Amino acid sequence: MTSPPVFRFDNSYFAELEGLYAPWNGAEVPDPTIVKLNRELAHELGIDAERIDSPVGAAFLAGSESPEGAAPLAQAYAGHQFGAFVPQLGDGRALLVGELIDRNGQRRDLHLKGSGRTPFSRGGDGKAVLGPVLREYLIGEFMHAVGVPTTRSLAAVTTGELVLREGPQPGAVLARVASSHIRVGTFQLFAARGDDEKLGRLADYTIRRHDPHLAESEEPYLQLLRALIDRQASLVAKWMGLGFVHGVMNTDNTTISGETIDYGPCAFIDRFDPSAVFSSIDRHGRYAYAQQPQIAQWNLARFAETLLKLIDPTNTEQAIASATAALDEYPQIYEQYWSGEMSAKLGLERLEATEHTLVDGLLDGMAKSGVDFTQLFRSLSSVLRGDDAHFAELTGKDEALEEWKTRWLARHESEETEALVRADDMDRVNPVYIPRNHKVEEALQAATAGDLAPFEVLHGLLDDPYTAVDGRDDYAEPAPSDFGCYTTYCGT
Ligand code: AMP
Ligand code: MG
Repeated sequence: MTSPPVFRFDNSYFAELEGLYAPWNGAEVPDPTIVKLNRELAHELGIDAERIDSPVGAAFLAGSESPEGAAPLAQAYAGHQFGAFVPQLGDGRALLVGELIDRNGQRRDLHLKGSGRTPFSRGGDGKAVLGPVLREYLIGEFMHAVGVPTTRSLAAVTTGELVLREGPQPGAVLARVASSHIRVGTFQLFAARGDDEKLGRLADYTIRRHDPHLAESEEPYLQLLRALIDRQASLVAKWMGLGFVHGVMNTDNTTISGETIDYGPCAFIDRFDPSAVFSSIDRHGRYAYAQQPQIAQWNLARFAETLLKLIDPTNTEQAIASATAALDEYPQIYEQYWSGEMSAKLGLERLEATEHTLVDGLLDGMAKSGVDFTQLFRSLSSVLRGDDAHFAELTGKDEALEEWKTRWLARHESEETEALVRADDMDRVNPVYIPRNHKVEEALQAATAGDLAPFEVLHGLLDDPYTAVDGRDDYAEPAPSDFGCYTTYCGT
């Protein structure tokens, strides 16, 4: 009896979007070896973890062999990078292996990053190296643990090659899973070329895949724009609530699914600074922490432009008016999501529009005194329980923050649920652990030198980031001052 295939593929992108990709295969590599496998996610995808945790599984996950039923391809897309339009990007070091229907009936892409050159590689080598691959693995899984829509990490695989970056590095591939890899940039490619047929096919496919209920709508494309406005507003509000700086919010990294994608140069703020930038290439701070909500709106406007002909094929003025009206609602939609994030973090049932000063007062006080963002929010539940020692230690009894604390506690007087219940709720939204930049670096350096233990410790804590673990206090602390300014590189 022959065994069933390892993956049960159902490849709709390949079947329905011919002309929007190049069929392609991964590069052969000498020694594919699984370094980290996400067994829980494998199970969710209906994959037998025992079967892929094997030499043949490693070859599949590195892209050097194509599993039965796969239809590997490199997707074509364009994108605005740092505000400048690049008419042709595409998967230059990645492949969509195929799609799987998971145990919940959801369609998911199985995608390999670092699997070799493709027709879209331009000058690049098509490869990835272990440090950045593990970085994306770790941070993506943390984002999932804290409820942020994100691509997931199925496996990190070394290839047995050395790849030249600043020096020779172990080559690696990240097998990632996403509800799709359709980007704003995918639409931009065909809109810029004036290829209405492909654009229409892409839009209809996207609606079937992400917003099937819109297929029956009278204005499906305008509604698709509205759906994306909503998803991106919600996503960025979650980033902001975590102190997350994506770092490269180009339109080719803006997904239609509303999932976070590409963790190359991202980082988390420790001492609060709204102008925080970490990426070495973001020299003008375009993608700084506080810029992110507006940048998302800018990216959404680029998406809207691609849809104009579909929104109203005969009346461009009307299409522009409809799209503009939808985009104009973004600030308000974003505010609502942000307010929802902040009310939860502050333990309040809701924040009225008139209560923004409560949030602003806290952020202002934090910025001025340079308090650690994550620790401060976490300390508030103890304050509510009557113990403000940690808060006092963090803030150094800063006058503005003390005054803010009194105002916040007074605001809690009008809440209906019990204070202790509210405090417990806060502990379920304010993490103890985040991927601290210095801890991530420490873990990646050790992993690159062959020691995966620090990565495993960090991964374990980030898997359940709301629970403090005895003896792991140092993982909750900001970087020591000798760690210096943190700079990230798009190396994945
Ligand atoms: P990213 O910055 O990861 O969003 O990538 C932007 C574009 O550069 C995408 O088209 C990538 O496929 C391409 N790219 C990045 N690194 C490489 C590489 N090492 N080889 C080939 N293409 C690359
Ligand atoms: Mg990208």
